[in-house]
Amino acid sequence: MTPSGPQRAMRTQIGISNAEQREHNMKSSADSACPCGQGASYEHCCGRWHQGPQRLAAPDAETLMRSRYSAFVKEEWEYLLDTWHASTRPERLEPHPSGLQWLGLQVRRQRLLAADRAEVEFVARSRWQGRGRRHHESSRFVYEEGRWWYVDGDILP
Ligand SMILES: [Zn+2]
Repeated sequence: MTPSGPQRAMRTQIGISNAEQREHNMKSSADSACPCGQGASYEHCCGRWHQGPQRLAAPDAETLMRSRYSAFVKEEWEYLLDTWHASTRPERLEPHPSGLQWLGLQVRRQRLLAADRAEVEFVARSRWQGRGRRHHESSRFVYEEGRWWYVDGDILP
């Protein structure tokens, strides 16, 4: 969103140095839209599951899936490991190749298979070295120890 006239005027009144200071004080991402595309700010969308008092408390499989996509974008590796079921969790995660750009997430379907099992089908788009990449997956999630966990997924065409 680009600032409209009145907002710009207000900014001028506040003074650019204050605005800059404020941006510096906040986490640079706090003000921007959430990578998962839900419209809300990152802070009020996936960010609250990444850190703070609600960390790891995503209430359903789709929300957890979205928060994991956002964690990939934000390179929150610890969060990804902490939401990965112990049976399939990798030892560690490799950083993305430099220049990888995430373009967006589309959740196609969420299915609750049982009270403690769910599937979420999604498409995540990215671009690397000028080429678009599309990751289409149906992920499995389980509910254990009072929260949802990512288990694994099937890559779809
Ligand atoms: Zn989000």
